Amino acid sequence: LRLIDTNEQPGEEKFQWSLRPDKLSDYIGQKDLLTRLGISIKAAKKRGEPIDHVLLYGPPGLGKTTLAHIISNEMSSNIICTSGPAIERSGDLMGILTNLQYADVLFIDEIHRLPRPVEEFLYSAMEDFKIDFVVDKGPFAKTIKVNIKHFTLVGATTRAGLLSSPLRDRFGILHHVDFYSTEELGEIVKRSSSILNVPVDEKGALEIARRSRGTPRIANRLLRRVRDYAEVIGDGSINEEIAIKSLGLEGIDPEGLDGMDKSYLKTIIENYQGGPVGIEAIAATLNEEVDTLQDMVEPFLLKTGYISRSPSGRRVTHKAYQHLGDSGILIQSS
Ligand code: ATP
Repeated sequence: LRLIDTNEQPGEEKFQWSLRPDKLSDYIGQKDLLTRLGISIKAAKKRGEPIDHVLLYGPPGLGKTTLAHIISNEMSSNIICTSGPAIERSGDLMGILTNLQYADVLFIDEIHRLPRPVEEFLYSAMEDFKIDFVVDKGPFAKTIKVNIKHFTLVGATTRAGLLSSPLRDRFGILHHVDFYSTEELGEIVKRSSSILNVPVDEKGALEIARRSRGTPRIANRLLRRVRDYAEVIGDGSINEEIAIKSLGLEGIDPEGLDGMDKSYLKTIIENYQGGPVGIEAIAATLNEEVDTLQDMVEPFLLKTGYISRSPSGRRVTHKAYQHLGDSGILIQSS
């Protein structure tokens, strides 16, 4: 398991959960999104209606689940959480939909992974708050429409491009959740530390933030490791030196790159002359899944400008050569 994997890791759900903001005003960063979402929530409350369906898209670990919970809290409604792969048949979804109360939030994570028949079943539920219920079989089969309560669907996806357009069009509110700046992550680290009762100074918080790949989930996880180190090696409080030593020990460099990122970059440089090279070739050389590289490695390397992507493939940038050269990983930089 990578320490900087953006997916939730076994045993950390409770820890991450304890650090979740539950009000819009406690949510750090994503200013434009918060302003627009805040207006949608206030307008819906003023009209006394549930908020329109919301689609949140962006890389994992950036707070989409947190936002879904905040929406239900702000609307004083219940939230029911599930995910695309968990709903295998329309019957599973029918059970969930018929149990929803007025204004409840149904959160579907990884909504792009809903099986197609389930997705189609969702269309009329989202649009008319009715579902098709098939009674009897064979030639006697009849479809009857069943009313369900007016609910809000909050869908989250890492791949907005994989969502079919009929589904995407049924969301009234679409928000892109973006990577966080170091300063915003520093605020998140300070907020989490105060919940955990761990003293942290400004420089210590920023050092953790810089290595968190723009992702709050990683920031919280790194904080947990640094806290352990501070308790065992120091007096329990976190400063710049403790953060640098502890995260260096974990194999995370000052820019947040770990061994996997470096292997990816080295593969392109050493086996493919720096690129351009197709993702399939890189995956085969590294013995990794294409999806893993696309979801877990490339978004951060693209965002920070260590690689560029074009129709002819991936190319390592000058910045990456420089960084690997400075870290002593590449002997000869070009
Ligand atoms: P996924 O898409 O994989 O479900 P996510 O984007 O929903 O991930 P969350 O699980 O909501 O991510 O957030 C991960 C952790 O980061 C949570 O513990 C939450 O406390 C924290 N977090 C996320 N965003 C913020 C934020 N804006 N302010 C403070 N803490 C945040």
